[in-house]
Amino acid sequence: MPYRIGTGFDIHRLEPGRKLILAGLEIPYEKGLLGHSDGDVIVHAVADAILGAAASGDIGAWFPDTAKETKDMYSLDMLPQIMAKLGTAYTIVNIDVNCIAERPKLSPHRDAMRGNLAKAFGIGLDQVSVKFRTHERLGDIGAGNAIAAQAVVLLETKTKKSEVGSRESE
Ligand code: MG
Repeated sequence: MPYRIGTGFDIHRLEPGRKLILAGLEIPYEKGLLGHSDGDVIVHAVADAILGAAASGDIGAWFPDTAKETKDMYSLDMLPQIMAKLGTAYTIVNIDVNCIAERPKLSPHRDAMRGNLAKAFGIGLDQVSVKFRTHERLGDIGAGNAIAAQAVVLLETKTKKSEVGSRESE
């Protein structure tokens, strides 16, 4: 089969005194996402979807939250690093993201986010979708205490069998 699909999910807590970074874009807001890295839930969900499609582990294995290299890391930089390993075996067909946030209003930033992701992967804007929804004031996301993201990625296989992609096998 030439195609492989993967899903990713991430959620981070919103805290005062942090920058809000989503899909590599700094968004003006009174709070930001707490994390060992910049807490970019969109990038983390997309990364996990790609790794899932390639059956190559997860973001925690590739970028451990105990490593000093990932402390305060600009997460968008993870994406070219992942494709440097997986890009010999796979090309990205398309990426679709749901970002779930009660506030701030994110839709004005949609195209900048799509552009950041497309540029990080070296793919076209028409291959990247980013969608936003609220959580209808339900639960922690609805109370404005967290932002979550889900992603689906479709990869096309370049080679029949891939040996790449597992950091553990290095
Ligand atoms: Mg995360």
